[in-house]
Amino acid sequence: MRLRKRRETAAPAPQHDANAIELHGIQRRYGRGRTAVHALRGIDLALPRGSFTAVMGPSGCGKSTFLQCAAGLDRPTAGSVRLGGTEITGMSENKLTALRRARLGFVFQSFNLLPSLTVEQNVLLPMRLAGARPDRHRAREVLAQVGLGEQIRRRPGELSGGQQQRVAIARALVTRPDVVFADEPTGALDTNTAAEVLTLLRQAVDAMGATVVMVTHDPVAASYADRVLFLADGAIADRLLRAPAHEIAERMTRLTARTPAPATAPATAWAAEGVR
Ligand code: ADP
Repeated sequence: MRLRKRRETAAPAPQHDANAIELHGIQRRYGRGRTAVHALRGIDLALPRGSFTAVMGPSGCGKSTFLQCAAGLDRPTAGSVRLGGTEITGMSENKLTALRRARLGFVFQSFNLLPSLTVEQNVLLPMRLAGARPDRHRAREVLAQVGLGEQIRRRPGELSGGQQQRVAIARALVTRPDVVFADEPTGALDTNTAAEVLTLLRQAVDAMGATVVMVTHDPVAASYADRVLFLADGAIADRLLRAPAHEIAERMTRLTARTPAPATAPATAWAAEGVR
C-alpha cells in the first residue's frame, strides 16, 4: 500500500536540459466575459541553468501570478511550462505536488520556518516531505555553505532575521532543485542584512549552479541578478542584462509612468515601496 502510494506520487525524474525552466505562451485569466482579468497575456521565456533572474513591475502587473504559474502552484489558462525538461502542464495535482517538493525550492519574505523544529530539522523537511531519506550530511553541508554550520541545533526564534532567511535558503537548496523561486526575499530585512542574503543567493548561482528566479520591488536587490525582466499589464515589457541599481530604478520609473495604476494600488505605492 505504502509502495503504491509512493509510486503514484513520485516526481518524474529530472531530464538535464540546458534550460532550468521554459514558459511558452503562458496566459492566465481570472473570471470570464467582460469582467475577466488578464493577469498574464502570453509570457515566453527560457531561463538557463545556473542563472539568476529578477522579476519586477508595478503592483498588479502579474508578478505573483507569473511566479505561481512558473512554480506549478497555479494553472495557466493557456500555454505550457517545462521544468528541467519535464512538461508540467496538465500534470495531476499529486504529481505536481511531488515535483514541487523534489525539484523546486522556495524562499519567502517571511522566512516560513517551522518554529518548533531546529535549524537542521527545518532544512531536512523538504527531503522528508518528498519521501526521500533525510540526508543529514547534505543538510549540514548546505548549512555550512550558508554560514550556519554552528547553529544547527538552534530554533528559528533564537536567530536574527538574516540568519532565518539563510536557513530558508539552505532549505530551498538542500534538494538541489531545478529552480529556486524567491518572493521578495529581502522585504523584511534591513539594508545590510538584505545585501548579505542577496550575496548568498548570488553565490548559490555562481558556486553551486543553482537557478534563481526572484520577484522584487527593490532595484538594488534586482542588481544582483544576471537579468531583470519587467512585467507590465501581464506581459514582459522590457529586460536588462547585468544592470546597476540606478539603471534598473530608472527603467522601473519609466515603466510605472506609462502603466495605469490598478484601482487597488495607487500610483504613490511605488514611493512607499522605496522605488524612486
Ligand atoms: P502583482 O503580483 O504584480 O501585484 P498579481 O499577479 O497579484 O500582480 O495580479 C495581476 C492581476 O490579476 C491584478 O489585476 C490582480 O487584481 C488580478 N488577480 C490576481 N489574483 C486574482 C484572483 N484570484 N482573482 C481575480 N483577479 C486576480
